[in-house]
Amino acid sequence: MKCDIVVIGAGPAGLWAAKTAADEGLDVVVLEEHVAVGLPKHCSGWLLGCEFTYKLFTEIKDALIHQRISRMMVIDPLSGQVKEDIEDTGWGGYFVRRELFDRELAKLALMAGVKLFLNVKVKELIKEDGCVVGVKTTSDSLPEVRAKVTISADGMKSATTKGFAKREIASESEVEVYSGVQMELVNVREVTPGQIEIYEAEDPKLAGRSLYPHGWGITLASFSSITAFFELRSRRDNLLSQKLASSFPIYMSGFPNRREMGYFYHCMVKDGVIFVGEACGCSGIIHGMITGLYAAKVAKRAIEQGDLKGIYEYDRVLRRSDIYRNPFCYRDIRKFYGSYRTWVERSKEIKMEVEGLR
Ligand SMILES: Cc1cc2nc3c(=O)[nH]c(=O)nc-3n(C[C@H](O)[C@H](O)[C@H](O)COP(=O)(O)OP(=O)(O)OC[C@H]3O[C@@H](n4cnc5c(N)ncnc54)[C@H](O)[C@@H]3O)c2cc1C
Repeated sequence: MKCDIVVIGAGPAGLWAAKTAADEGLDVVVLEEHVAVGLPKHCSGWLLGCEFTYKLFTEIKDALIHQRISRMMVIDPLSGQVKEDIEDTGWGGYFVRRELFDRELAKLALMAGVKLFLNVKVKELIKEDGCVVGVKTTSDSLPEVRAKVTISADGMKSATTKGFAKREIASESEVEVYSGVQMELVNVREVTPGQIEIYEAEDPKLAGRSLYPHGWGITLASFSSITAFFELRSRRDNLLSQKLASSFPIYMSGFPNRREMGYFYHCMVKDGVIFVGEACGCSGIIHGMITGLYAAKVAKRAIEQGDLKGIYEYDRVLRRSDIYRNPFCYRDIRKFYGSYRTWVERSKEIKMEVEGLR
């Protein structure tokens, strides 16, 4: 099969790149290794509020179950003291069921003319004279797709040896990942839908744990392991454990995550291939979608001008963008921003426009 753009991965970054490129009149193919868009899911489904989110949301709101986010609290679990209490100033955005959100994006992409193939796993990039010209897959029905530009949107996997970047890493820490398990919990006590709780403590078992109470009776939270969740739940010496005491998961999914979360990879484009979303080191649903938008626009221009080296413009565009300066890094917020308040206030000002990019 031949097309203008082949996208590896049907997450938000890949789907938005695909939809944008199709809207621009390009012939786009998306390949997704799983049998469903949006699953397995390991994400709290928080769409950070900014111009992009609110514009998108006006289009898809009716198709989604959602909860507006109205508050974020940073709490010391041992004393119960609230260290930061950030009320809604327009930064919050929404909680959505992530799997349904992704499927909505897939629907929009398909309606724009994208061809989406599920259960097709990309196994390697095809290179000619050092330049990527498409992908090979493990599927008998679609063994290869050739394209003018390849967009790698394979998520966190891109950082690992299984990914396609063959990373030119600045340091080992750039690609260091840790694992955890995310749960949808029922019966979490004394939480209010739409109010995010972040627990800060010296104790590593409590540090950085967060509660994301959605409006339909579930709270999302992640832990270092299933055992760690049950251990934390059985403790009686802190507020978080008290809230978890009667809770049980109805959905669990393991996940890898980057230690250097929030820091983009230094290599975000190579000959013939652009990395978007988590594959370029950009965390966050909305941030990832914006990288997809930039990639599609840059690819369209390069294809139109018949100079595929033009895709290197993506690197310049991204580094000048608001999402690069204000990354989504729900871990290590204080390291990056100093305070949660600074983070949310700066995030809500994120604009998609970048000088020189139509
Ligand atoms: C515990 C946790 C909670 C989070 N909570 C939030 C949150 O509340 N809000 C937020 O904004 N962000 C959150 N994030 C981050 C967010 O989930 C990611 O930044 C986002 O999913 C990245 O989107 P993406 O499209 O880049 O990659 P992904 O969503 O990971 O999509 C990549 C896609 O590529 C496919 N793929 C991979 N390899 C191949 C292959 N070889 N062939 C074909 N397909 C392939 C995968 O199956 C997948 O569908 C969270 C992350 C974690 C780990």
